[in-house]
Amino acid sequence: MGASRRVLVVGGGIGGMASAAAFGQRGMDVLLIEKRPEFTVPGVGLGQPANALRVLGELGVLPQVIAAGFQYDSMRYFDYNRELIVEHKFLLGGPGLPAVCALSRSDLHDILLDAALKVGVGIGLGTTAQQMEQEGNRVHVVFNNGSSDEFDLVVGFDGIRSTTRIFAFGEAFEPIHSGYGAWRLQAPRPPEVDAMEFYQGLGSKTGAMPLNDELMYLFHIRPEDPSEKLAREDYPRYLRERLNGYGDHIAEVRDALGPDSDIVYSPLEPAILPPPWYSGRIVLGGDAAHTFPPHLTEGAGMALEDGLVLADELSQDKPVEDMLDGYVQRRYARCAFVYTFSMQMLHSEQMVRTHQQLDEARRELKANGSARIAASDRILNLPVLPAKGALLWR
Ligand SMILES: Cc1cc2nc3c(=O)[nH]c(=O)nc-3n(C[C@H](O)[C@H](O)[C@H](O)COP(=O)(O)OP(=O)(O)OC[C@H]3O[C@@H](n4cnc5c(N)ncnc54)[C@H](O)[C@@H]3O)c2cc1C
Repeated sequence: MGASRRVLVVGGGIGGMASAAAFGQRGMDVLLIEKRPEFTVPGVGLGQPANALRVLGELGVLPQVIAAGFQYDSMRYFDYNRELIVEHKFLLGGPGLPAVCALSRSDLHDILLDAALKVGVGIGLGTTAQQMEQEGNRVHVVFNNGSSDEFDLVVGFDGIRSTTRIFAFGEAFEPIHSGYGAWRLQAPRPPEVDAMEFYQGLGSKTGAMPLNDELMYLFHIRPEDPSEKLAREDYPRYLRERLNGYGDHIAEVRDALGPDSDIVYSPLEPAILPPPWYSGRIVLGGDAAHTFPPHLTEGAGMALEDGLVLADELSQDKPVEDMLDGYVQRRYARCAFVYTFSMQMLHSEQMVRTHQQLDEARRELKANGSARIAASDRILNLPVLPAKGALLWR
């Protein structure tokens, strides 16, 4: 599938935008559709570890990302009063490549949009696919404005509630509430928050990530009742109640919450689609294929890697089925690792509910926490584009 082939990318988030840019850079004719009428993304942040930065480098946008973001090279575990338990220096990155660069989601989105437009990607805002029918090697798509078109491949990066996934596989893989939810917001950054910070509470965990010289991004994860309706206008009150018990600058953020606080809440619905991630000429990537608890800050990173690896496979001289198989073989094990590792982090932190369990967790984290993250770093720092002839993740 080389130049002149028509590809439809569904979804203009980080993964869709990156894959569209990567396809366009390889000469493919790309249309990207996004259901929102304009590109506005919630004002929270994204940590981009070195593996994500490598993809952004391949797309030619690393300097812009570095300029927009805040680099850091370690992760610190504290208790809820910000008493240090253990510090881990990431084994990520390399010469010219920071371990992590965090930036606001909207900045990353704008940078990727520019890259996609530069290579002629067509963009349809306020557009969805109402119908997809596969006939031979083509996918016939009917759009919400009544028009229709044919494509050689449809690539679904339309997020956790993907309708492309439904066109490919039916409703067998709908997301399920894990019983946990995540609260997120931006807040002024105290100078000492210059790395990723986790604060272990009793029955919840809070984290902070520097975004730039002024701002940090705060997230709070705890059990949430799936049947409870959380009214948006009450988010500041809910979050204030939930942050009770935390001290230091988390308490300052809590006390400053008010009606104008821009808070994002999402239930955690981790899932990984079993392989293959394609059916005929419809293939999935990003959150449409896998969603993780946010602990390794790898959701967008894995979506970026999916886009690049798919573009790499599609530019090879092989039958389309072999290229799609190659894509899934290169992606599944790596994403399954992120899924398992972050699920395990979620479960261990949420099991800490009493002072005695916190003392035990403190001892265990001191002894093993850094080595554990180091094991993950070594896996995640492996490049996803193999040197010619080498086989990775197959
Ligand atoms: C609390 C929390 C913190 C996180 N922190 C990080 C982090 O620090 N670092 C990180 O890398 N990741 C993080 N993530 C994960 C990350 O946000 C996602 O994994 C990433 O955004 C997935 O990208 P995507 O492009 O696959 O999907 P999305 O970003 O969900 O984009 C999907 C796009 O498709 C559009 N769409 C949906 N349906 C249709 C349709 N039918 N037709 C057309 N368009 C459609 C949507 O409007 C959207 O624009 C976090 C997630 C959570 C919940």
